Amino acid sequence: MSYTPMIHQYLDIKAQYPDAFLFFRLGDFYELFFDDAVKASKELEIALTSRNGGKDEYIPMCGVPYHAVKQYIKVLIDKGYRIAICEQMEDPKLAKGMVKREVIQMITPGTIMEDESLEPKKNNYLAALSSFDDGSYGYAMSDLTTGETKVTMISAWDGVIEELDANDVREIVLDPAFDQNRKEWLTERLNVTLSEDANDIVPEHLKAIVSGIDQEKLLRPLGRLLNYLVITQKRSLDHLQQADVYHINEYMMIDPHSRRNLELTQTNRDKKTYGSLLWLLDDVKTAMGGRRLKQWIEKPLLSEKKIEDRLNAVSALKTHMLERETLRGSLNEVYDLERLVGRVSFGNVNPREVLQLKRSLDQVPDIKKTLAEISDEALKTYGDEMDPCEAVRSLIAQAIVDDPPFSTADGGIIRKGYDETLDRYRDASKNGKRWIAELEAKERQETGIKSLKIGYNRVFGYYIEVSRPNLKLLPEGRYERRQTLSNAERFITPELKEKEQVILEAEEKRVGLEYQLFSDVRMKIKEFAARLQKLARLVSGLDVLQSFASVSDKNGYVRPTFSEDRTLAIENSRHPVIEKVMKDGAFVSNNVHMDKTCDMLLITGPNMGGKSTYMRQAALTAIMAQIGCFVSADQAVLPIFDQIFTRIGAADDLVSGQSTFMVEMDEARYALTHATQNSLILLDEIGRGTSTYDGIAIAQAIVEYIHQHISAKTFFSTHYHELTFLEDKLPRLKNVHVGAMEEKGNVVFLHKVLSGQADKSYGIHVAKLAGLPGDLIDRADEILEGLEKEKGKQVPSDQVAVIREEAAAEEHPVSRPHDEKPEQLDLFGSPEPSRIAKISRREQ
Ligand code: ADP
Repeated sequence: MSYTPMIHQYLDIKAQYPDAFLFFRLGDFYELFFDDAVKASKELEIALTSRNGGKDEYIPMCGVPYHAVKQYIKVLIDKGYRIAICEQMEDPKLAKGMVKREVIQMITPGTIMEDESLEPKKNNYLAALSSFDDGSYGYAMSDLTTGETKVTMISAWDGVIEELDANDVREIVLDPAFDQNRKEWLTERLNVTLSEDANDIVPEHLKAIVSGIDQEKLLRPLGRLLNYLVITQKRSLDHLQQADVYHINEYMMIDPHSRRNLELTQTNRDKKTYGSLLWLLDDVKTAMGGRRLKQWIEKPLLSEKKIEDRLNAVSALKTHMLERETLRGSLNEVYDLERLVGRVSFGNVNPREVLQLKRSLDQVPDIKKTLAEISDEALKTYGDEMDPCEAVRSLIAQAIVDDPPFSTADGGIIRKGYDETLDRYRDASKNGKRWIAELEAKERQETGIKSLKIGYNRVFGYYIEVSRPNLKLLPEGRYERRQTLSNAERFITPELKEKEQVILEAEEKRVGLEYQLFSDVRMKIKEFAARLQKLARLVSGLDVLQSFASVSDKNGYVRPTFSEDRTLAIENSRHPVIEKVMKDGAFVSNNVHMDKTCDMLLITGPNMGGKSTYMRQAALTAIMAQIGCFVSADQAVLPIFDQIFTRIGAADDLVSGQSTFMVEMDEARYALTHATQNSLILLDEIGRGTSTYDGIAIAQAIVEYIHQHISAKTFFSTHYHELTFLEDKLPRLKNVHVGAMEEKGNVVFLHKVLSGQADKSYGIHVAKLAGLPGDLIDRADEILEGLEKEKGKQVPSDQVAVIREEAAAEEHPVSRPHDEKPEQLDLFGSPEPSRIAKISRREQ
């Protein structure tokens, strides 16, 4: 026995999509068969059934109703699966033999268009990567929902990692021959698609997207990306915008660890936006503004001119409070223009959404007017360049009714007066309906049955309904019985059926024509895609600027200025997020003073004293300044930092099997090998993951190395008080400490950063605060006292450090000029135990 023809058809199609769930349309359901069914029924938690497929054994099967398919698609896509949607390509009633079926679209994590699976304030990027023999990469990415397409060249793998992380890429397409190790590395972290078919030659019909680009390294990843979209989407990709070539060295580099440490877009603890910088700065009014804000935070600028342009605009919006409120009111009425345009082009926009497009466009003249009123040079281009796309607005206004339905299935979309033929159909059906209403009145009068009524249902069409007690009043012969209900009978008459014919025909034609007209409107809007996208870009940018202005105004931020000589001076600096979540005024502000003669702060003081907060707030201030926002301080002068490196807080990489110390060293290595004089480095309690002597040795060596070879602005917190002597040895290092006081045997943290070194570490006080048993605390005090006495007899800690310094000098005999790149510091590259051991042995 062999399979039925339908199962044969299924198997033929499935063979072309081995790595996707095949959603096979059967009437009102999408069915899955064989292994797909077994797996999908588990993932979707739906019943697994079976079907006779012609052979002896039954075929496993499960299905989802077509009208609810989106929610099931979402579940599978969220889990990283791919889906091939296979539709019936002809009406089963009209088909001769087997209904023709075809896969009309592949849905993958990086190409999903359904709102259910997208976050409004987050882009959904699909990326493609090409590797070159010289170790460099071409990197392209596109958000199919907005049409945005970008491409860049990256010189080394570290840069690729940073780029993928900064953009939150959802899926990446690679050549199956891509380097095996890197492929595996990527597969552990995101959805990797290996596609033989998506070659790297840009398809002829999409050449416009890459116009003006002639470098191999840009064209190849673009080719791969576009081919993959062609293969999966199987439809017009007209809304893809011309690829934007960018240079990664135009943006501040922040490695993935540091992004997490600084909680730029989500917090470390629960991965939520609440409590992140993104959360703090988000007072945008539109979803696309939300996406742009996230992009800006992820990519702080390096060009002073571009930063000042944004700051000028923020400044103007901040001062003009009334106008800003008006603007916010207008923006509030703007829908997600970018994604609406995407849906228009993609062909899945519904009538409601087309109306949202119009409502958004309605706001543009007002926005332009308000910007003109502010009349500030910085906002002028925004106002001047905003194109109200009046032709689109008026087209929708004329064509679409005020309250259209979601669906195009039943008409009710097109406004009266837009199309003559449509109006005629409408009149015909309206006249018919009026005739029926008149007939009802006439029949009531003639029969004397007040409750007689004319109704309609899909099976019997129009009918006259008479309740049982009144049946006897009906004249003989005129009515034909059609249906008997428990307490009434339904009749028809020839003239009623005749009229019904006219009405139904008009209705059918009306619905068909409305659909046609709606599609025409959609096609006309599509021609404006590029103009609408440009408008969306301006509106979303403006939205972010007003958000910066509003947040800055509310929180009393100041405009930062930029120093030429690397001065970093922040008066009354606050940690913007902690300040926000604390009670008003509870956050203690602090100064940062590092002029050109000072590159490093060595921060000592008790645990919980506020050291890492102080460091983080410096980094956040720099980032806020370089995205063009005001900053949480009374005054701020900063260098423009090219990169930020951090080693802060608890290791969040423990799951990956690395020890805390290894993670610490790895992050230090990363900073030391990548930082330049123009970078900002934050190192928190380096060396605490190992034994005291090892720890001190490594901490000191790192401080010296940075001081001698890098000279980046560095914040170095440590509980090794022994290191404070370095202030005398290293001219550009300064000691500061967080203040604490003892009050009636308790420690009080002042959270104030003061010059000089801390005199005590208060560790036992912190233990007491944490509620450890009283006996234990007393015992710890006793031990400490003993140790301190012991230490008094031994070499003073200062001298220990000096000995160590000599040891370190042996390690780095030559002091290098700043601009000369040191060779890789192998002490941290691959941990070389012998060397670490050498230092510690010398100490003991
Ligand atoms: P450390 O790094 O010295 O151990 P943290 O920076 O982690 O200390 O700060 C410990 C706690 O003190 C945090 O919960 C923080 O909210 C609070 N804190 C830190 N700095 C300040 C400040 N300037 N004003 C008020 N509270 C602060």
